[in-house]
Amino acid sequence: MYDVIIIGGGPAGLTAAIYARRANLKTLVLEATACGGQIIITPDIENYPAAMHISGLDFASRLESQANELGAEIKFEEVTGLNDRGVEKEVYTDSGSYTGKAVIIATGTKPRKLGLIGEDELIGHGVSYCATCDGSFYRGRVVAVNGGGNTALDDALFLSNIAEKVYLIHRRDEFRGDAETVEKLKAKENVELVLNSNVTKLDYDKKLNSIEVTDVNGATRKLDVAALFIAIGRMPATEAFADKITMLDGGYIDGEYCHTNMPGIFVAGDCRNKEVRQLVTATADGAVAVHEVLKLLNK
Ligand code: NAP
Repeated sequence: MYDVIIIGGGPAGLTAAIYARRANLKTLVLEATACGGQIIITPDIENYPAAMHISGLDFASRLESQANELGAEIKFEEVTGLNDRGVEKEVYTDSGSYTGKAVIIATGTKPRKLGLIGEDELIGHGVSYCATCDGSFYRGRVVAVNGGGNTALDDALFLSNIAEKVYLIHRRDEFRGDAETVEKLKAKENVELVLNSNVTKLDYDKKLNSIEVTDVNGATRKLDVAALFIAIGRMPATEAFADKITMLDGGYIDGEYCHTNMPGIFVAGDCRNKEVRQLVTATADGAVAVHEVLKLLNK
């Protein structure tokens, strides 16, 4: 049995692993895809103390090495649920189950989806949630970005330097993101703002061919695009625990001092209900969660 099972290998989870191993806890990290979480798509981290000009990928890789070097076990399995059996907590994955004396949920957030027919099957075939990861596949093509926050604005700007044309579709006529970036986009000849509009349909065979956009008056327009980059915010990746853990509307886990409603199950990082979601608050949560685990285990 592990002393602590950490679900999620992002900055919160890996920091928890580092602190847990330094306290000599038998530590397992379960990560669904690749270590690093959201930070791996950040080209340059500018706001983490003393880590000047490090890419998100390098930062994640250093964190993973540090956790490994200290003796944390990292397994690449997707967690599907957990069960509280008093002093033992059982964590289920797509390929097995593990028991631990404590669990830290550090699953972070994931992109919000539009919920359109075909959206899931088109991921990698014209639908993307990451312009910096997938933009270069659409060099010289016509693409669309959906959203009105800083991510959508930055994505549209980034893509305007790669694509032939970029439609930026937003459901209102005012942007949530920075006015300065909006002005830069307005100055771009190959960017067209499609405002007061929603993406209502994806037309596709095996790949995306075009999208339907509907404005607030109900008028529809077909846009021939090779890709749609969806940037409409993020949501907590906590649905695997929804039957057990108390969550707020929207799925964030309420957890003062990283405690959940269930003794021995803790929460850390962006999936925790809090005001400031930054790299520095994620890593801080990892340390706090382990501090609370140590109190539970009387260590
Ligand atoms: P966000 O700020 O929450 O913006 C989400 C956008 O998506 C909003 O414009 C929202 O429209 C729209 N939206 C939400 N649900 C929708 C739906 N179902 N259909 C259509 N549109 C929908 O998210 P974000 O852009 O990912 O940014 C997250 C945080 O990171 C923000 O604080 C942001 O400032 C920050 N960030 C900063 C930078 C930077 O400083 N360069 C870069 C990226 C992100 P409404 O506006 O109408 O609600």
